[in-house]
Amino acid sequence: MYRLFASAALVATASAVTTNYTSTVDPTKINIPNTPQTTSYDVATECTYYAPPVPILPTDWPNNWQVATSNGMNTSAEYTTLYNSINWNNAPKINPRTMGADGALVTTGYDTVNDPDCWWTATQCVNPKAAGVLKDISACPEPETWGLTYDDGPNCSHNAFYDFLQQQNLKASMFYIGSNVMNWPYGAQRGVKDGHHISVHTWSHPMMTTLSNQAVLAELYYATKMIKYVTGLTPLYWRPPLGDVDDRVRWIASQLNLTAIIWNLDTDDWAAGTTVTVQQVQQNYQNFIQDGTNGTFASKGNIVLSHEINNMTMDFAIQNIPNIKKAYKNVLDVATCMNITYPYVETTVSFASFGGGSSSSNGSVSPGGSGSSSTSKSAASGTQANAALAIAAAFAVVAFL
Ligand SMILES: [Zn+2]
Repeated sequence: MYRLFASAALVATASAVTTNYTSTVDPTKINIPNTPQTTSYDVATECTYYAPPVPILPTDWPNNWQVATSNGMNTSAEYTTLYNSINWNNAPKINPRTMGADGALVTTGYDTVNDPDCWWTATQCVNPKAAGVLKDISACPEPETWGLTYDDGPNCSHNAFYDFLQQQNLKASMFYIGSNVMNWPYGAQRGVKDGHHISVHTWSHPMMTTLSNQAVLAELYYATKMIKYVTGLTPLYWRPPLGDVDDRVRWIASQLNLTAIIWNLDTDDWAAGTTVTVQQVQQNYQNFIQDGTNGTFASKGNIVLSHEINNMTMDFAIQNIPNIKKAYKNVLDVATCMNITYPYVETTVSFASFGGGSSSSNGSVSPGGSGSSSTSKSAASGTQANAALAIAAAFAVVAFL
């Protein structure tokens, strides 16, 4: 097996700042009660709010689905201490970007030839130019390897999807939105319990390059803090919403020891029915699957952007995963494909090295085989064969909160 990369977690050059991340949850002993939220395939039942496993006081957090400086967070003693612990003189001198009336970022006037800010939105740059910035991860290095990633969770009705991944013996990198973790904490705990690689996807899903330094820091800090509070784990990786990152945003993330994970293949699943058709998304999946056997990934791998945002995107995944597993030698989370043993600050949870017998590999592990230390109470064995049908039928309309 190839071992091209040492642990990326060890290359952090930024100085860690004082944080106030605490949790009463032991990530190795998560126990999800047999509640309707974790057993039902009925979306109306699953998306009913439930009492969280730990008390979540709204006054302690930014407003749900609002920028993370809201609710007085930007003036709290905790945040002020954090902000002042950073030497902002070293931050790249890059102004926040602007958005046009159409809600799209304005790239007009940016020097895309020299790309001084390594602005992904403008150039898809993943090699930062600024000093003291953690370099992005954008592809699994190993040949014939599909980096499995799902953004925007935890979803209120995710359990049939997580059951499916468990039955397929697959681990994915899950990029959780802080506000969603606040709303659906058992969803986040399920992700940890199932052995998925949990990373940060901001508090409220903004275009990060448009925010002030203060707001960028708050978006990352409070999302990370919420994940820690609910799951007991502090992620060391994050993904910018819509990939919108530049060296200023990277530098701020680096102060929290957060490395960006981008992608090199985009299914466009979330946009199906709006800016792209369902057929186009299915064609994207078909093309990426063919790339697994036509030589495209004979000497390298990919990281594929997909979402657990709603029933439609999860159904795309369920429909295509069997063929992905046939076309690729490895289908697995980014921590494993990058040989990142410890993708969290806490070392009580570790990931197998690539080819180290990880259950994430599709290898010869039979579907439904254990591989996972956890056995979800929600996995109803009698429904396995019908999982794809069930998810299609049950996930009617899930509102994106
Ligand atoms: Zn997203």
